[in-house]
Amino acid sequence: MTCAVCGCIDKFDYHISDSVWEKVVPTRYRKRVVCLACFDEFAFEKEINYSDSIDVLYFAGEQAIFKFRTVSAEDV
Ligand SMILES: [Zn+2]
Repeated sequence: MTCAVCGCIDKFDYHISDSVWEKVVPTRYRKRVVCLACFDEFAFEKEINYSDSIDVLYFAGEQAIFKFRTVSAEDV
């Protein structure tokens, strides 16, 4: 997957509710891949707290696949 915003190869996948996604991500990117780093930038610009919106993070590499669960999260 390639991030539609920054163009990086995004191997991390995350799930976020549609309502938060629509609040954070600009319309032109909503149907595209947005990496977590760019998502965070958008949330920062709009001052939207989303720290309790991500419970699981997936990493799909060439050699291994991981599923991470949030241990702690906080707004900064
Ligand atoms: Zn990006």
